[in-house]
Amino acid sequence: MIYKRSSELFASAQKVIPGGVNSPVRAFKAVGGDPIFIKRAEGAYLYDEDGNKLIDYINSWGPLMLGHAHKPVIDAVIDIAKKGTSFGTPTEIETKIAELAVKLVPNIDKIRMVNSGTEATMSAVRLARGYTGKEKIIKFAGCYHGHSDSFLIQAGSGAITFGTPNSPGVTQGTAKDTLLARYNDLENVKSLIEANKDEIACIIIEPVPGNMGCIPPNEGFLEGLRELCDDHGILLVFDEVMSGFRLAPGGVQERMGVNADIACFGKVIGGGLPVGAFAARNEIMDYLAPVGPVYQAGTLSGNPLAMAAGLAMLTELDNNRSVFKSIDKKTAYLHEGIEKVLSENNVAHTINRVGSMISIHFGEEPVVDFETAANSAGNGIFNKFFHGMLENGIYIAPSAFETWFISDALSYEDLDTTIEAVNKVAKTL
Ligand code: PLP
Repeated sequence: MIYKRSSELFASAQKVIPGGVNSPVRAFKAVGGDPIFIKRAEGAYLYDEDGNKLIDYINSWGPLMLGHAHKPVIDAVIDIAKKGTSFGTPTEIETKIAELAVKLVPNIDKIRMVNSGTEATMSAVRLARGYTGKEKIIKFAGCYHGHSDSFLIQAGSGAITFGTPNSPGVTQGTAKDTLLARYNDLENVKSLIEANKDEIACIIIEPVPGNMGCIPPNEGFLEGLRELCDDHGILLVFDEVMSGFRLAPGGVQERMGVNADIACFGKVIGGGLPVGAFAARNEIMDYLAPVGPVYQAGTLSGNPLAMAAGLAMLTELDNNRSVFKSIDKKTAYLHEGIEKVLSENNVAHTINRVGSMISIHFGEEPVVDFETAANSAGNGIFNKFFHGMLENGIYIAPSAFETWFISDALSYEDLDTTIEAVNKVAKTL
């Protein structure tokens, strides 16, 4: 495949945009080479500036669960845009999407819309601190909650891809209030709580992490966290920015039957437009301004275009619940096919999957936390795999620490093409 125009566009971009990108992981820095510039996309496919067609396993990093340019979403955005793009006043559509989200997600009474997953988690932690009157938080190594200061402590996703888990610019004062735990290790969490008695406002977690690859929670782990939180007056915050409206209509809370005190959303809830949200029961949400004392705001929060896209997306999922089964089944098919060809080609691997979240790790050690994810990512095989797949027209995330983002627009023929590409590439690893 030829990527001449993409490389030219990247050269121009680098002159006026830091690293040529508006979000670091897009730059291909970890895997080498120039990023691909996309011109348009439809269903399961991306069409780039050089005229190449690629099967897409990024789907805008998760939001496009029903594929690109999904008609009901596009129609909703076009319709509403004609009436004006932003008013800075309440609009009816904000209540409609809130009503639907509250219906779909268990254990929440109210939801507040923001503009990104980062804003959602940042605001959720402020609310947890305001509600409990405590300052420290526990996060897990390898979990990514966006780029606000409190979370850039051994974060996953781009933050590990670039080897800067603790970013310059995060003050010592902020960092000291973020305690770091090992995912899937309840004893570790217990000892942090013991050592910081009555100081912890919340435990924030990707209940099924997708930012150090996909890691399934060990049996009893999430239930154990729930119990610890109940015993110690700590709020449990589920960051469902990736898993929300994907692993089930009600996310991990529904799929695994564990209740969070605050749930954060992003990606799917915006249908491809910039939306994040956080939600909880009344007693917690009523702590937020203008009802309560915890301040949180946004000029473009609840923006009509974003709400229209999100409402169209959630309505599609609500009206067509078979999507959740369909997407899980497609991911299981992919899992089985890739497992088979990697084994036949004697490539050491571990595949992790929960529903439609899946990641391939090039090592035999089980990947259960940040340390084991980092071990399998350190051998350089992923980079060869990534470029081999790209050469075969398959676009996966340019980082060993990401899950594949499966969309229901993928056909079984696309999945077979992908498995055949893995077979070809496996022979070169
Ligand atoms: N939380 C999780 C679990 C995420 O995966 C991400 C982004 O990938 C975020 C938060 C941050 O969301 P955003 O990039 O919209 O700020």
